[in-house]
Amino acid sequence: MCEMRVWKECVMTNLLFIADVIGSPGREVLRALLPELKRRHDVNLTICNCENSAAGFGLTKDVAKDLFDSGCDVLTGGNHLWDKKDAIDYIGEEPRLVRPANLPEGTPGMGARVFKTNTGVHVGVINMLGRVFMKEADCPFRTADAVLERLGKQAKVIFVDFHAETTAEKVALGWHLDGRVSAVVGTHTHVQTADDRVLPGGTAFLCDAGMTGGFDSVIGMDRAAALRRFLTLLPERLQPASGDLRLNAVLVKVDEETGKAVSIQRLQVPLKAEAAREDTRAVRAAGGATTTARLLTGAEPAEAVTIEARLRAHALSEAGFVPKLALVSVGEDPASQVYLRKKGEACAAAGIAVERVAIPAGTTTEEVVRRVKQLGEDPSVHGILVQLPLAPPADGQAVLEAIPPFKDVDGFHPENAGRLAVGLPGFVPATPYGVVRLLQYYEIPLKGKHAVVLGRSHIVGRPVATLLSSKGCDMTVTIGHSASGPELRALAREADVLIAAVGRKHMVTADWVKPGAVVVDVGIHRVPSADGKGKPKLTGDVDFEAVKYVASAITPVPGGVGPMTVAMVVLNTIIAAERQCAMVRA
Ligand code: NDP
Repeated sequence: MCEMRVWKECVMTNLLFIADVIGSPGREVLRALLPELKRRHDVNLTICNCENSAAGFGLTKDVAKDLFDSGCDVLTGGNHLWDKKDAIDYIGEEPRLVRPANLPEGTPGMGARVFKTNTGVHVGVINMLGRVFMKEADCPFRTADAVLERLGKQAKVIFVDFHAETTAEKVALGWHLDGRVSAVVGTHTHVQTADDRVLPGGTAFLCDAGMTGGFDSVIGMDRAAALRRFLTLLPERLQPASGDLRLNAVLVKVDEETGKAVSIQRLQVPLKAEAAREDTRAVRAAGGATTTARLLTGAEPAEAVTIEARLRAHALSEAGFVPKLALVSVGEDPASQVYLRKKGEACAAAGIAVERVAIPAGTTTEEVVRRVKQLGEDPSVHGILVQLPLAPPADGQAVLEAIPPFKDVDGFHPENAGRLAVGLPGFVPATPYGVVRLLQYYEIPLKGKHAVVLGRSHIVGRPVATLLSSKGCDMTVTIGHSASGPELRALAREADVLIAAVGRKHMVTADWVKPGAVVVDVGIHRVPSADGKGKPKLTGDVDFEAVKYVASAITPVPGGVGPMTVAMVVLNTIIAAERQCAMVRA
């Protein structure tokens, strides 16, 4: 459906789910943080699990009013929902409350209801109990099937709060409902899990959303009393804890036309942590918020690329063809030595042979070109990478042009740049290729979104802009550079995805970023240690500590784009070897 409306964006419904609110400390956090969260994430419907909201056990009418007054639209329950006996009638009558659906007939209240968002979209909400290590309930899988028969006709967007004890049961329900509901989010265990993902059918899934309340505790309750209970096995009354107050929640973006989720984001928001206050002071001044962005680290997607490369290298060596990369440097630039070592190690780990060609500083361009041409003619070498910058007088551009385009695994040869520009197969520069693979790995929505690329170098800015605007990514792209002037900040603030590749330390501050944008920091800067004796620290073009409170997702430096660059060199070398292997065989 979205393809038919390319001129318009898919219309999203943003659902915010607040994890189990524990007693009055949890409600205090909610009151303080929910309005800003809703504004910042443009939330259309707020659902909140309330089964522990009255002094840690159950719900009362007054407590429910408090939750609604704080900004919740819908309340969901669990096995403790009925703990306050006086409230049973209220629970049965409250139209904004959904109790577990898989309970015996005659249980007051309803297990599934349809609500309207602030934009008029119908959203079905289902609450269910797990059966493993929980009190007896009907089968949640079959109950969900039956409820969906009815609810599916009334709402495309459907949210399931699955209140269950075990991971396996929750994961199983996620798969059971994949493609039939927009989200399955677990509650009950009170510790937020890190397995958030959108399943292949379009159902957002998280095993447990965590809790909202005091984290200086045992899952929300006074830790001293909880410990005594474990140590003595004697009964002891538990009270909600009030130290280290935090809010846990999940934000799910759903295409309201299809009901499929496009993203899921976990939130952990501290209320009063001193450190967080320090960090946020500057951001608050700039109108920012206090949630921190999802970290898009490079290690995991880089590992995925390396595994792919290793398998392909293995297939080549089975055919008697060992892929080989020549790593060429001129001079002893310390940063280059680090990059060369990392690239060499990553290639070796993937089964690629590496030939190190270290040419001394002071070598002429002609001599370096001659050496590179020799490598170009050597049939045992499939990829050539010349690490820039070259020590003078060697001219980097002349040397890059001496690499045969079919061995140019860095993709800097003009022929490969041209091929990328016109959409022909060639070699894509490693860093831009890595940026795109990282965004795709984390399922960042790209199609139809606006990317602003800061920087227009042929190594990063231009190719990244070309890739993001090409078919497959389908983004609308704006490129900024040093002549863009003061307007650039306002342009950057329009970006859904902001790519910073300017080589200017911390140029991108919080006020350059639209709230909720995804920020990719390509820049690398070495900051000497305070005493000048320790190891220098790496940082980027983005002021990470401030921007993390504004962006919805951000790559760190180090550990973001860097590992992807290395991984893509490895993959490009495999691609080069495969093409040359195919030519030899043909
Ligand atoms: P270049 O210096 O070649 O290009 C920088 C670009 O930024 C230029 O287009 C320049 O504009 C633009 N620019 C500079 N200052 C400003 C400004 N004040 N406002 C707007 N635009 C500006 O750098 P690279 O593209 O090679 O690298 C960029 C950064 O990425 C560097 O920090 C580099 O170390 C890092 N890098 C990281 C890699 C990784 O693996 N993570 C790999 C490669 C690079 P103009 O064209 O007008 O001069």
